[in-house]
Amino acid sequence: MIGAARRSSVPQRVLEAIRAVVGNAPAALHEPCFEGNEWRYVKACLDSTLVSSVGPFVDRFEADLASFTGASFAVAVSSGTAALHVALHLAGVVPGDEVLVPALTFVATANAVAYCGAVPHLVDSEERTFGIDAEALHAYLNEIAELRDQRCINRRTGRTIRAVVPMHVFGHPAEIAAIIAVASAFHLIVVEDAAESLGSTVGARHTGTFGAMGAISFNGNKTVTTGGGGAIITNDRELARRARHLTTTAKLPHRWELRHDEVGYNYRMPNINAAIGCAQLEQLPAFLRAQRGLFEHYRAAFETVDGGHILSEPGNCCSNFWLQTLVLDQAAASYRDAILAAGHDAGILLRPPWVPLHRLRPFEACPRMDLRVADSLAARLINLPSSPRLFEPASRQ
Ligand SMILES: *Cc1c(COP(=O)(O)O)cnc(C)c1O
Repeated sequence: MIGAARRSSVPQRVLEAIRAVVGNAPAALHEPCFEGNEWRYVKACLDSTLVSSVGPFVDRFEADLASFTGASFAVAVSSGTAALHVALHLAGVVPGDEVLVPALTFVATANAVAYCGAVPHLVDSEERTFGIDAEALHAYLNEIAELRDQRCINRRTGRTIRAVVPMHVFGHPAEIAAIIAVASAFHLIVVEDAAESLGSTVGARHTGTFGAMGAISFNGNKTVTTGGGGAIITNDRELARRARHLTTTAKLPHRWELRHDEVGYNYRMPNINAAIGCAQLEQLPAFLRAQRGLFEHYRAAFETVDGGHILSEPGNCCSNFWLQTLVLDQAAASYRDAILAAGHDAGILLRPPWVPLHRLRPFEACPRMDLRVADSLAARLINLPSSPRLFEPASRQ
């Protein structure tokens, strides 16, 4: 049991460990940090009057992002959700298809599938990375699916399973090679939900570049923010061209004519958001150092706390440590809500993971495999304050 060696209660003991890292001041879950060129670039953007979706900061942000991730192309869009939506559309997901998504993810992963008129098909997680369990998925597909004309058909529903969307949970890379192998065996297109994993790599390769496309988010709580925003990264020139076209209302290039050749979306990232993004990307290496440093502090502080551990990065991977995570042992899971309450009482905004998708009203009837690991993890994870600035020694007491 947590804290059995001491007389203080379990939630108190956990809170002490957190405070040893973040100090006694109230702490948010993940606050943005604007200590670079943000003001300068936003001013330059306003002075230029190019505030909307055309402008030099968008081009520069895309180039910087491609260069940082090693992807051949990056297309900046208005949100991570929009990036997922367009990526799935370009992957060929059509109404009536099924798309494999982890049950343990943010709702946007499944929403994007639903925007395509397709049905999320929920997949279980694996204990080490919290991403899709490739082995269990393989066995499950062997049982329920068959290949017909190069298509994966769900024998129970008769629908085509078109794609799979691995997600890199809290920035920790999923077992992407194994997931890609299953996808190839069943002719599934891979779209990575890399919304949380900017800066996370497997070997030397950036998450989001293993599948046909990857979606990144720049929401206010992510490692790098543009206020709101997202990007599609890909190594495929044609997919990048289609993504840029579709997200710009499918407008054909012309000096004055407004002609559109398909139903497109107003999903491009405004220049003013990209201005913030350019300044943020300059600081990304420092953010990553701070988030890793914060992880080391948490790990040390929880070393003596029995009953749980701080999630570390998977082998052969480099995590961005976006959200630090306390993993309670099965036996200590019953303390979760008391720990959350004690944190909130103290102004420390601890957070449980997402309610798994099969427990959300819009997705409760979705087809799914056995989701016991996703359920178990959802009941015993706690995200800890993770802002890069918490790493600064000055903020620690
Ligand atoms: C943040 C997030 C998204 C969505 O990004 P937005 O920019 O908020 O639309 C999608 N998937 C996951 C896993 C996320 O964490």
